[in-house]
Amino acid sequence: MPVSPRPRGRVSLVGAGPGDPALLTRRAASRLRAADLVLFDALVDERLLTLAARAQRFFVGKRAGRHALTQDEINNIMIRAAQRGRRVVRLKGGDPFVFGRGGEEAQALQAAGVPFEVVPGVSSVLAGPALAGIPVTQRGVAGAVLVTTGHDESAFAAQVGQLSPGGVTLVVAMGHARRAALAGVLRAAGWPTDTPAAVVASASSPRQYVWRGTIERLEQGEGGLDGDSPALLVVGQVAALDLTSAPINRVARRRDDRRGIRPRSTEPDALRSPVVRRGER
Ligand code: SAH
Repeated sequence: MPVSPRPRGRVSLVGAGPGDPALLTRRAASRLRAADLVLFDALVDERLLTLAARAQRFFVGKRAGRHALTQDEINNIMIRAAQRGRRVVRLKGGDPFVFGRGGEEAQALQAAGVPFEVVPGVSSVLAGPALAGIPVTQRGVAGAVLVTTGHDESAFAAQVGQLSPGGVTLVVAMGHARRAALAGVLRAAGWPTDTPAAVVASASSPRQYVWRGTIERLEQGEGGLDGDSPALLVVGQVAALDLTSAPINRVARRRDDRRGIRPRSTEPDALRSPVVRRGER
Protein backbone atom coordinates (compact mmCIF):
# COMPACT_ATOMS: atom_id res chain seq x y z
CA MET A 1 0.00 0.00 0.00
CA PRO A 2 1.47 3.38 -0.92
CA VAL A 3 2.51 5.42 2.06
CA SER A 4 0.77 8.77 2.02
CA PRO A 5 3.24 11.64 1.99
CA ARG A 6 3.73 13.49 5.22
CA PRO A 7 1.84 16.76 5.17
CA ARG A 8 4.35 19.53 4.62
CA GLY A 9 2.24 22.22 6.20
CA ARG A 10 3.99 24.19 8.88
CA VAL A 11 4.39 27.66 10.29
CA SER A 12 7.70 29.52 10.54
CA LEU A 13 7.70 32.41 13.00
CA VAL A 14 10.37 34.47 11.28
CA GLY A 15 12.31 37.51 12.49
CA ALA A 16 12.78 40.10 9.75
CA GLY A 17 15.52 42.05 11.55
CA PRO A 18 15.48 45.76 12.36
CA GLY A 19 14.74 47.02 8.85
CA ASP A 20 17.71 46.88 6.49
CA PRO A 21 17.11 43.79 4.31
CA ALA A 22 20.83 42.99 4.51
CA LEU A 23 20.27 42.09 8.17
CA LEU A 24 17.86 39.27 7.32
CA THR A 25 19.20 35.82 8.21
CA ARG A 26 19.78 33.22 5.52
CA ARG A 27 17.26 30.89 7.07
CA ALA A 28 14.65 33.65 7.02
CA ALA A 29 15.34 34.28 3.32
CA SER A 30 15.02 30.59 2.54
CA ARG A 31 11.70 30.28 4.42
CA LEU A 32 10.37 33.31 2.52
CA ARG A 33 11.37 31.80 -0.83
CA ALA A 34 9.59 28.54 0.00
CA ALA A 35 6.47 30.14 1.50
CA ASP A 36 2.93 29.69 0.19
CA LEU A 37 1.52 32.30 2.56
CA VAL A 38 3.21 35.24 4.31
CA LEU A 39 1.52 37.18 7.11
CA PHE A 40 3.51 40.32 7.90
CA ASP A 41 3.51 43.22 10.35
CA ALA A 42 3.90 46.97 10.10
CA LEU A 43 7.61 47.12 10.93
CA VAL A 44 8.59 44.75 8.14
CA ASP A 45 10.41 46.28 5.17
CA GLU A 46 8.26 45.43 2.18
CA ARG A 47 11.32 44.79 0.01
CA LEU A 48 11.68 41.51 1.89
CA LEU A 49 8.36 40.38 0.50
CA THR A 50 9.75 40.28 -3.02
CA LEU A 51 11.67 37.19 -1.88
CA ALA A 52 8.36 35.43 -1.33
CA ALA A 53 7.50 35.64 -4.99
CA ARG A 54 5.23 32.59 -5.07
CA ALA A 55 3.40 33.33 -1.83
CA GLN A 56 0.16 35.06 -1.04
CA ARG A 57 1.11 38.01 1.17
CA PHE A 58 -1.12 39.66 3.74
CA PHE A 59 -0.60 42.61 6.02
CA VAL A 60 -1.98 41.68 9.45
CA GLY A 61 -0.39 44.35 11.64
CA LYS A 62 -1.59 47.56 13.20
CA ARG A 63 -2.46 50.53 11.06
CA ALA A 64 -3.20 53.91 12.67
CA GLY A 65 -3.47 52.22 16.05
CA ARG A 66 -6.03 49.66 14.84
CA HIS A 67 -5.30 46.01 14.29
CA ALA A 68 -6.03 44.85 10.75
CA LEU A 69 -6.92 41.47 12.30
CA THR A 70 -7.30 40.29 15.87
CA GLN A 71 -4.70 37.98 17.37
CA ASP A 72 -7.21 35.09 17.33
CA GLU A 73 -7.92 35.68 13.65
CA ILE A 74 -4.20 35.63 12.85
CA ASN A 75 -3.75 32.42 14.86
CA ASN A 76 -6.68 30.76 13.11
CA ILE A 77 -5.44 31.67 9.64
CA MET A 78 -2.00 30.23 10.42
CA ILE A 79 -3.43 27.04 11.90
CA ARG A 80 -5.91 26.40 9.09
CA ALA A 81 -3.39 27.11 6.33
CA ALA A 82 -0.79 24.79 7.88
CA GLN A 83 -3.39 22.05 8.36
CA ARG A 84 -4.14 22.30 4.65
CA GLY A 85 -0.50 21.61 3.89
CA ARG A 86 0.63 25.17 3.26
CA ARG A 87 3.97 26.62 4.29
CA VAL A 88 3.20 29.69 6.30
CA VAL A 89 5.67 32.42 7.21
CA ARG A 90 4.67 34.73 10.03
CA LEU A 91 7.09 37.61 9.47
CA LYS A 92 7.75 39.98 12.35
CA GLY A 93 10.07 42.92 12.83
CA GLY A 94 13.30 42.21 14.73
CA ASP A 95 13.13 38.92 16.61
CA PRO A 96 9.74 37.17 16.84
CA PHE A 97 10.12 36.45 20.55
CA VAL A 98 11.02 40.00 21.62
CA PHE A 99 7.84 42.04 22.23
CA GLY A 100 6.28 40.68 19.07
CA ARG A 101 3.62 38.36 20.52
CA GLY A 102 5.54 35.55 18.87
CA GLY A 103 5.40 33.61 22.12
CA GLU A 104 1.60 33.76 22.16
CA GLU A 105 1.43 32.63 18.54
CA ALA A 106 3.77 29.73 19.29
CA GLN A 107 1.50 28.71 22.19
CA ALA A 108 -1.55 28.72 19.91
CA LEU A 109 0.28 26.62 17.29
CA GLN A 110 1.51 24.21 19.93
CA ALA A 111 -2.01 23.84 21.37
CA ALA A 112 -3.37 23.13 17.89
CA GLY A 113 -0.68 20.52 17.22
CA VAL A 114 0.60 22.38 14.17
CA PRO A 115 4.30 21.92 13.32
CA PHE A 116 6.12 25.19 13.73
CA GLU A 117 9.58 26.65 14.17
CA VAL A 118 11.09 29.93 15.26
CA VAL A 119 13.61 31.63 13.00
CA PRO A 120 15.34 34.17 15.25
CA GLY A 121 15.94 37.63 13.90
CA VAL A 122 18.31 40.48 14.67
CA SER A 123 16.35 42.34 17.32
CA SER A 124 16.22 46.12 17.16
CA VAL A 125 16.71 46.22 20.94
CA LEU A 126 20.33 45.17 20.46
CA ALA A 127 20.97 46.18 16.85
CA GLY A 128 19.56 49.69 17.31
CA PRO A 129 22.00 50.72 20.03
CA ALA A 130 24.87 48.94 18.22
CA LEU A 131 24.19 50.80 14.96
CA ALA A 132 24.11 54.04 16.95
CA GLY A 133 27.57 53.29 18.35
CA ILE A 134 26.28 52.29 21.80
CA PRO A 135 27.52 48.98 23.24
CA VAL A 136 24.79 47.88 25.66
CA THR A 137 27.41 46.22 27.85
CA GLN A 138 30.91 47.59 28.33
CA ARG A 139 33.48 46.35 30.81
CA GLY A 140 33.62 48.67 33.80
CA VAL A 141 30.64 50.72 32.57
CA ALA A 142 27.58 48.49 32.25
CA GLY A 143 27.47 44.84 33.24
CA ALA A 144 23.76 44.22 32.70
CA VAL A 145 20.94 45.22 30.36
CA LEU A 146 17.23 45.54 31.07
CA VAL A 147 15.13 45.36 27.92
CA THR A 148 11.65 46.59 28.63
CA THR A 149 8.73 48.53 27.19
CA GLY A 150 7.48 51.95 28.04
CA HIS A 151 3.84 51.50 27.21
CA ASP A 152 2.85 50.86 30.83
CA GLU A 153 4.36 53.43 33.15
CA SER A 154 3.53 51.66 36.40
CA ALA A 155 5.01 48.37 35.17
CA PHE A 156 8.10 50.33 34.13
CA ALA A 157 8.26 51.96 37.58
CA ALA A 158 8.05 48.56 39.28
CA GLN A 159 10.85 47.18 37.10
CA VAL A 160 13.30 50.02 37.50
CA GLY A 161 12.47 50.33 41.20
CA GLN A 162 14.17 46.96 41.70
CA LEU A 163 17.43 48.10 40.11
CA SER A 164 20.12 50.09 41.76
CA PRO A 165 20.97 52.92 39.38
CA GLY A 166 24.36 52.70 37.74
CA GLY A 167 26.00 49.80 35.99
CA VAL A 168 22.79 48.81 34.18
CA THR A 169 21.72 49.79 30.68
CA LEU A 170 18.00 50.25 30.04
CA VAL A 171 16.71 49.66 26.52
CA VAL A 172 13.09 50.72 26.24
CA ALA A 173 10.94 49.74 23.24
CA MET A 174 7.57 51.34 22.56
CA GLY A 175 8.34 54.14 24.98
CA HIS A 176 9.35 57.12 22.87
CA ALA A 177 6.03 58.96 23.06
CA ARG A 178 6.11 58.68 26.86
CA ARG A 179 9.80 59.49 27.24
CA ALA A 180 9.24 62.52 29.48
CA ALA A 181 7.07 60.57 31.93
CA LEU A 182 9.46 57.59 31.88
CA ALA A 183 12.39 59.89 32.60
CA GLY A 184 10.39 61.25 35.56
CA VAL A 185 9.93 57.68 36.82
CA LEU A 186 13.69 57.14 36.66
CA ARG A 187 14.37 60.38 38.55
CA ALA A 188 11.86 59.37 41.22
CA ALA A 189 13.59 55.98 41.48
CA GLY A 190 16.85 57.72 42.31
CA TRP A 191 18.59 57.78 38.93
CA PRO A 192 20.84 60.88 38.73
CA THR A 193 19.27 63.28 36.24
CA ASP A 194 22.58 63.73 34.44
CA THR A 195 22.61 60.01 33.51
CA PRO A 196 23.20 59.77 29.74
CA ALA A 197 20.21 58.87 27.58
CA ALA A 198 19.74 58.37 23.84
CA VAL A 199 16.92 58.03 21.35
CA VAL A 200 17.65 55.68 18.43
CA ALA A 201 15.05 55.85 15.66
CA SER A 202 14.60 53.86 12.44
CA ALA A 203 17.82 52.01 13.16
CA SER A 204 19.46 50.39 10.12
CA SER A 205 17.31 52.34 7.66
CA PRO A 206 18.50 55.32 5.60
CA ARG A 207 16.44 57.46 7.99
CA GLN A 208 18.32 56.29 11.07
CA TYR A 209 18.45 59.09 13.63
CA VAL A 210 20.24 59.28 16.98
CA TRP A 211 19.74 61.87 19.71
CA ARG A 212 21.99 61.96 22.76
CA GLY A 213 21.22 63.76 26.02
CA THR A 214 20.42 63.03 29.64
CA ILE A 215 17.49 61.86 31.74
CA GLU A 216 16.84 65.50 32.60
CA ARG A 217 16.63 66.57 28.96
CA LEU A 218 14.36 63.63 28.16
CA GLU A 219 12.08 64.71 30.98
CA GLN A 220 11.92 68.15 29.39
CA GLY A 221 10.61 66.50 26.23
CA GLU A 222 13.78 66.70 24.14
CA GLY A 223 14.64 63.89 21.76
CA GLY A 224 11.46 64.24 19.69
CA LEU A 225 10.98 62.92 16.17
CA ASP A 226 9.05 63.94 13.08
CA GLY A 227 6.46 61.36 12.17
CA ASP A 228 6.11 58.01 13.86
CA SER A 229 9.42 56.25 13.25
CA PRO A 230 10.04 53.25 15.50
CA ALA A 231 12.34 54.40 18.27
CA LEU A 232 14.18 53.05 21.32
CA LEU A 233 15.27 54.82 24.46
CA VAL A 234 18.67 53.85 25.81
CA VAL A 235 19.51 55.02 29.33
CA GLY A 236 22.75 54.49 31.23
CA GLN A 237 26.42 55.48 31.07
CA VAL A 238 26.91 53.66 27.75
CA ALA A 239 24.44 56.03 26.07
CA ALA A 240 27.16 58.70 26.10
CA LEU A 241 29.41 56.51 23.91
CA ASP A 242 29.50 57.04 20.17
CA LEU A 243 31.54 54.16 18.82
CA THR A 244 30.96 54.89 15.15
CA SER A 245 33.50 55.52 12.49
CA ALA A 246 31.56 58.02 10.47
CA PRO A 247 34.61 59.96 9.24
CA ILE A 248 35.99 56.84 7.54
CA ASN A 249 32.67 56.04 5.90
CA ARG A 250 32.25 59.62 4.79
CA VAL A 251 35.74 59.77 3.27
CA ALA A 252 35.22 56.45 1.47
CA ARG A 253 31.91 57.63 0.10
CA ARG A 254 33.27 60.96 -1.09
CA ARG A 255 36.07 59.15 -2.88
CA ASP A 256 33.55 56.84 -4.56
CA ASP A 257 31.39 59.79 -5.55
CA ARG A 258 34.32 61.55 -7.22
CA ARG A 259 35.16 58.46 -9.25
CA GLY A 260 31.54 57.87 -10.05
CA ILE A 261 31.78 54.45 -8.42
CA ARG A 262 28.58 52.88 -7.28
CA PRO A 263 29.01 50.67 -4.24
CA ARG A 264 29.03 47.06 -5.39
CA SER A 265 26.78 44.54 -3.79
CA THR A 266 26.86 40.78 -4.13
CA GLU A 267 23.35 40.49 -2.77
CA PRO A 268 20.38 39.66 -4.94
CA ASP A 269 18.44 42.71 -6.11
CA ALA A 270 15.63 42.07 -3.70
CA LEU A 271 18.01 42.27 -0.79
CA ARG A 272 20.07 45.22 -1.89
CA SER A 273 20.10 47.94 0.70
CA PRO A 274 19.83 51.52 -0.49
CA VAL A 275 22.65 52.47 1.85
CA VAL A 276 25.28 49.83 1.19
CA ARG A 277 28.51 51.71 1.73
CA ARG A 278 31.91 50.55 0.70
CA GLY A 279 33.24 47.90 2.99
CA GLU A 280 29.86 47.25 4.55
CA ARG A 281 28.24 43.88 4.23
N1 SAH B 1 10.27 42.22 17.79
C1 SAH B 1 10.82 43.57 17.60
C2 SAH B 1 10.25 44.56 18.59
C3 SAH B 1 8.77 44.81 18.38
S1 SAH B 1 8.13 46.05 19.45
C4 SAH B 1 12.34 43.49 17.70
O1 SAH B 1 12.89 42.46 18.15
O2 SAH B 1 13.00 44.43 17.28
C5 SAH B 1 8.24 47.47 18.43
C6 SAH B 1 9.26 48.43 18.98
O3 SAH B 1 10.56 48.02 18.62
C7 SAH B 1 9.14 49.84 18.45
O4 SAH B 1 8.18 50.58 19.16
C8 SAH B 1 10.52 50.37 18.69
O5 SAH B 1 10.69 50.72 20.05
C9 SAH B 1 11.38 49.15 18.43
N2 SAH B 1 11.92 49.12 17.06
C10 SAH B 1 11.62 48.23 16.08
N3 SAH B 1 12.37 48.46 14.98
C11 SAH B 1 13.15 49.53 15.26
C12 SAH B 1 14.15 50.25 14.54
N4 SAH B 1 14.47 49.93 13.28
N5 SAH B 1 14.75 51.29 15.16
C13 SAH B 1 14.44 51.63 16.43
N6 SAH B 1 13.52 50.98 17.15
C14 SAH B 1 12.88 49.94 16.59
